[in-house]
Amino acid sequence: MSLAKRVSLIKPSPTLALEARAKAMKKEGIDVISFSAGEPDFDTPEGIKEAAIRAIKEGFTKYTPSSGIEELRQAVADKLAKDLGLSYKSKEVLISCGAKHSLYNIAMALFEEGDEVIIPAPYWVTFPEQVLLSSAKPVIVDAFEDDGFLLKPELFESVITPKTKALILNTPSNPVGSAYDRTHLEKIAEIAVRNNIYIISDETYSEIVYDGFKQVSIASLNKKIFDLTIVVSCASKSYAMTGWRIGYAAGPPYLIEAMGNIQSQSTSNPASISQKAAVEAFSGRYADFINMMVERFDRRRHYIVNRLRNITGITCFLPQGAFYVFPNVKEILGKMFENTVIDSTVKLTEYLLNEAKVAAVPGDAFGAPGYMRLSFASSMENIEKGMDRIENAIRNLR
Ligand SMILES: *Cc1c(COP(=O)(O)O)cnc(C)c1O
Repeated sequence: MSLAKRVSLIKPSPTLALEARAKAMKKEGIDVISFSAGEPDFDTPEGIKEAAIRAIKEGFTKYTPSSGIEELRQAVADKLAKDLGLSYKSKEVLISCGAKHSLYNIAMALFEEGDEVIIPAPYWVTFPEQVLLSSAKPVIVDAFEDDGFLLKPELFESVITPKTKALILNTPSNPVGSAYDRTHLEKIAEIAVRNNIYIISDETYSEIVYDGFKQVSIASLNKKIFDLTIVVSCASKSYAMTGWRIGYAAGPPYLIEAMGNIQSQSTSNPASISQKAAVEAFSGRYADFINMMVERFDRRRHYIVNRLRNITGITCFLPQGAFYVFPNVKEILGKMFENTVIDSTVKLTEYLLNEAKVAAVPGDAFGAPGYMRLSFASSMENIEKGMDRIENAIRNLR
């Protein structure tokens, strides 16, 4: 039997694989501390759960319109207006099964063979894989640590060709927590407009920001860039709702309609019950929940960055958003553990898992070897214990 060619183009998500391996070790009774989680460690707020239970009891358990219920599309449009000053009609919003699904619908509706899609590295693992699934070509361009892991406008411009279809921006970003301010976005937008390039703006972490950072959506800068941008986000991270699978895309009506057609012939509507829960989540009644969560993340952020910076050979960018740190471990590479040379971040994370029982994701998975990603969506107690182990394990390298 021969599988379709596209299967061989992609890799399974390395972050999910690592998380699975750490969980399997835990099941065997091994005391593993995982820094690999890609989701908040908080529970979905009670009021949101109650909205879902109500939906079930009231029999809201059938198919809905495949692009999402009007009430939720409108709730998203209202939220985008209030939070980011964006003006979308409900029919310019498509509800999908998580932001990952929204991004997949964009790839299917917009990209094809011969297209190039620019992705700054470090990138979220899914971006290049979805571009490959669409038969287009991912064009990876480095966003350097010295530039705060932000794509330099002149570097963006330098990789544009007549085939360039889109740029995927993720702000605040996973895995780094870097975030673009208005001035920087204006420069990116000017180049995109001049070259007629779409911007896919993944703003999943827009509400998880620190030190008073003010999220600006590139779509809000002017009418020309608004018409070229698709804003993507979800209920998953800000409302601790990763399992509910609700994401959305907002953009030009012709594109949202095309994505809706694809969705109607692939998954149909996201779960009716989750949609009702998301209406409740986006009501504005959970600002206190988000504030509480961000405050807790913030304390852990400072703690983990300080601990990492105190380890000889490690430097660490202070994230402005999301819940990951992305330490630079290049100086540690080349050291020895017993008879093995730890000469890559893949080997370093394997060493940390096997010897220190700590799970971290190698930067290679995000297009940035020499770094690793640690999630601080985990209790302070776990973070303290895990950092002790990392510090010891690195000290034991020769
Ligand atoms: C978690 C994440 C998503 C996916 O969110 P889902 O709604 O769970 O599909 C999208 N983009 C980034 C950058 C993420 O970290």
